[in-house]
Order: sequence, then structure tokens, then C-alpha cells
Amino acid sequence: MEKLGFTTGIVHGDRTTGVEHGGVRQAIHTSVQYGFERVEDLIGVFQGTKKGGFNYARQGTPTTAALERKITRLEEGVGSICFSTGMAGLSAIFLTLLRAGDHLVSSRYVFGNTNSLFGTLRTLGIDVTMVDATSAENVANAIQPNTRMVFVETIANPGTQIPDLEGIGELCRARGLAYVVDNTITSPALFKPKAVGASLVLNSLTKTIAGHGAALGGAVTDTGLFDWSAYPNIADEYRRSASKEQGLLQIRKKGLRDMGAALSSEQAHSIAMGAETLALRVAKCSENALALAQYLEKHEAIGHVFYPGLKSHPQYEIAQALFKGASWLLSFELRNAERMIEVVNALQLPVKATGLGDTRTLIIPVAPTIFYEAGPEVRKSMGISDGMLRLSAGIEDIDDLIADFDQALKLAV
Ligand code: PLP
Repeated sequence: MEKLGFTTGIVHGDRTTGVEHGGVRQAIHTSVQYGFERVEDLIGVFQGTKKGGFNYARQGTPTTAALERKITRLEEGVGSICFSTGMAGLSAIFLTLLRAGDHLVSSRYVFGNTNSLFGTLRTLGIDVTMVDATSAENVANAIQPNTRMVFVETIANPGTQIPDLEGIGELCRARGLAYVVDNTITSPALFKPKAVGASLVLNSLTKTIAGHGAALGGAVTDTGLFDWSAYPNIADEYRRSASKEQGLLQIRKKGLRDMGAALSSEQAHSIAMGAETLALRVAKCSENALALAQYLEKHEAIGHVFYPGLKSHPQYEIAQALFKGASWLLSFELRNAERMIEVVNALQLPVKATGLGDTRTLIIPVAPTIFYEAGPEVRKSMGISDGMLRLSAGIEDIDDLIADFDQALKLAV
């Protein structure tokens, strides 16, 4: 099964690991406790000597483990851990692998709640420097003797900036830094961060992997490229495992087990169902996003369109070289920002809602909602204007979407 294509691997993967009664997909295992005939096996699971066993659902169930195998396969990694949300996965990475006195270099263009989480890290004595990571040189200049990790998003939400993913990967390899890449907006259907040397990959499963706006989840995948034996913050008890396993083991024990943001089996099952059509949906959503971006760019009511599939985008070449498509996320500004509320209210199809990567097109004004708490200074540094609208393209028929924008944008001409 190793050499199968992306979608074949997803839809047939479950069968290869033995599903009860010949089921073609994993069952939903709701048991919190797991009993054993022999107490030695219970002890073995606790001590990690009995592989593949379960003891308590906060640390995983057969259903979440099956989803972890699916995500590992999609990212071509060596292992994954699922969490109740993407933010739980991110928190687990930073809080278990960084310590007071450490330094993190992050792209300045990150999701608002990630930016807020960096505020929490600072209160714990972890220093965070945010730079324009579209240039690897900016990242290099920010590195200090206590820098442990570099963090970027593949396509930034909502400004769509793309970091110099390859250049930063080379830099991290040369300097022995952990390279953490949030792959949420591209998803493994469009890009695998392992290709640019990422150590850990974060996916908010809530978005395009689950795909239907009906389940929350997150996953951290280890690509197997980083040498954790040389990383200073691994606790002695996890040093006994193989070098490649140490980082993820510490995240599982200190992050998932101790912090407790476990994914439920019901949600894992729902996400695994959504994942089966990931490549099909992402292709259609990206096609719709490109068509909408091209339409909006020519429209007289529109000031600027941010979409990496447009030649006008500053990182168009990177998107062409690294991604299989430019994703479903696009942002744009009306020339006349005062008409924004009127125009959005006039749209019939895009749902006025937060969230991303749904089958339905979603639209939201950025400054007064998801970046409201960040304040005007942070918004300015991230290139977020008061009139910016973020759109997550769905799988609707494109003619319907364009007709809807046609009638709504008349209000802003
Ligand atoms: N990373 C990115 C790029 C996101 O856009 C989001 C949510 O929008 C997250 C992480 C957090 O994911 P979740 O909502 O599953 O916690």
C-alpha cells in the first residue's frame, strides 16, 4: 500500500490494518477504558513496551489512531498526533518543546489566534520575534543563540503571503533549528512541507481535511527529518526512545496527555470520512477561488485582490513551483470600503461566517472580526486594511457565485 496515489491511499488505508468484521472503514470506538486479560499487558501499554495498545481515551483510541495513520500517510511523515482542535496542536508544540528563556522566530503573517498564543508564550518567558518571512534573510537576521524554532504558515490567513519556504528550510537545517510549518491553508493535497525540510507539520483538520464545517480537530505530524537527540528540551525519560520518536513522544505525553485536548472518536470518524474527498474538494475549491480572483481583479469596484494564483501576487512564482494549486483562500478590498457592509449583506450565496475550507463559500470582514482583538497596529503590520474581506471558496457552481457577486458589487460602483 506504500506506493498508492494520494486518494487511493486514503480510501483504502483503513483496510490494511485489520478492521473488525471486514468493515471497510474504522469503527467508532467510544470506550474510554481498555481492559486486558493479563495485567502484564496493561503495564506494557503504560510503559510503552507493548506497542499499539490503548489504556485511556485521552491518550488515543483505535479510531483516533486510524486517523493519525491517515494524516501521517498524507504528509509522508513518521507519525502524527491528533488533537481536539488545530489550536490545541499548536499550543502543544510550543508549550512542550519551548522553555522559559528560549526564543522563537515566527512569520509576522499568522492566524490571529496564533498571534494571540504568542502573547501567552511571552508571559511564560518565551521570547517571540515576528518577521516578514517572505524573505529567509529576515528570518536569519532574527536568529539568536537561544533560538530553538522557526514557525511559518504556508499561505498566510488572511493576507495570503507565502514565506520563502525553501530558503527557511535550508536555514533551519544549517542552524539545527526545529522548523514548524502550519499547512492548514494548503493541506497535504496541495503541498507537503516535508519537501522543504519541515520538522513538524500542523494541520487544522477542522478546515479542508474534514471539509464540511462539521468537526473540529488538529494534527501534528513529525516528518522524520529533525534530529531530536540534538534538541536541548527533550526530557530524560523520552531520550530513551529512538531519536526520530523523541519530539512526538514528548508532545504526546506532555501535550496531549497532560494538557488533555483529546480528539473524540466521533469527531475523528467524521474527519476521516471528510478526508476521503480531500483532493477532489481542494481541486474544485481552488478552481473556484482562481476564477473568482480573476473576476474580482478586473472588477471596477475592487481595489486589490490577494490570491497566490494571480500573476500580480508577489509570491506567484513560489506558489507555482511548490503548490499543486493556490488554495481556496482569497482576500480582497473594495475601492470604496464604506460600502463593505452593504455589499456583503447583498451577497446571497457566500455565508457570512467565520471558518475556512468548507464546501460552502464563506465570507467575513477581517478587521472588525477575526483581527479585531489584535488592534490597529498589528493589523497594519500584517497588511490588513479596514476594508479587507476574506473569502473561503466552496464547491458551488462558479457561474452562480459570479452572478451573485455581479449583483452585489453593483452597490459599490
Ligand atoms: N492555523 C490556521 C492557519 C488557521 O487558519 C486556523 C483556524 O482558522 C488554525 C490554525 C486553528 O485551527 P482550529 O480552528 O482547528 O483550532
